[in-house]
Amino acid sequence: MLKRIFSNILMAFFALNYKQGPGTKIFVKAIDHAGNTSKAGFNYNIKRKIFKKDVINISDKFLNWKMPEFDIYTPQDSELTIKNKFLKVNREIRKDSYNKLIKLVEKTDKVLYWDGVFLRLPKSANKAGFADNRVYKYKNKIIDRQIHLGIDLASIAHSPIPAANRGKVIFAGPIGIYGKTVIIDHGFGLQSMYAHLSSYNVKENQMVSKGEIIGRTGITGLAGGDHLHYSILIHNTFVNPIEWWDKAWIKNNISSKINKAESR
Ligand SMILES: [Zn+2]
Repeated sequence: MLKRIFSNILMAFFALNYKQGPGTKIFVKAIDHAGNTSKAGFNYNIKRKIFKKDVINISDKFLNWKMPEFDIYTPQDSELTIKNKFLKVNREIRKDSYNKLIKLVEKTDKVLYWDGVFLRLPKSANKAGFADNRVYKYKNKIIDRQIHLGIDLASIAHSPIPAANRGKVIFAGPIGIYGKTVIIDHGFGLQSMYAHLSSYNVKENQMVSKGEIIGRTGITGLAGGDHLHYSILIHNTFVNPIEWWDKAWIKNNISSKINKAESR
């Protein structure tokens, strides 16, 4: 999707998903008002990346505590065993939550709201990484596999969460496995997502500045302990948040290119 930023220059962010390695074809396709289409290639370099495996042991204690929270989504399934209830949540509710999220992030403004490096939850430890290959074990048997499309950050319970950068809140509310969630649009399809919150204090269409407190960490949704699930999306594609915390990466990959276009 190309959007006009300057009178004769168009800009778009290109995102690769975690499965797209070297060999992925990228090109620009533009359609003018008369419907004429043109397509062009450009130079790019995609590095191979191997993501981690992460084993998650599911206990009865966790299931007995957590599954009732999902009864509102599956009221007819009261006869299911606790293990099957978990599988339903981890597969079907996960899919529904993802579909809902993907609809929500269609809303984006043609404005570059953000500036500079994105903020990370202060004084927090990385508990799970982007695109971790999660293997779920129950009573020592593998029962499910899923890909983790964000980073889990843990600090003290109910830690205040700063907006990673300036933007417009496009959603604040519950989404299935993500629990209470806030999504901020930074413009041109770039968004940050904050999940499993205990509370939030922003509402849709509200502008927030970088560092402004938007809510507090929690355990809502499919979370076993208090943490922040933090994701970055570009045009419906989850990308690695680590890159957006990196000043040099932003300069080399994003801002230097925009500055170059502006100075032409
Ligand atoms: Zn997570």
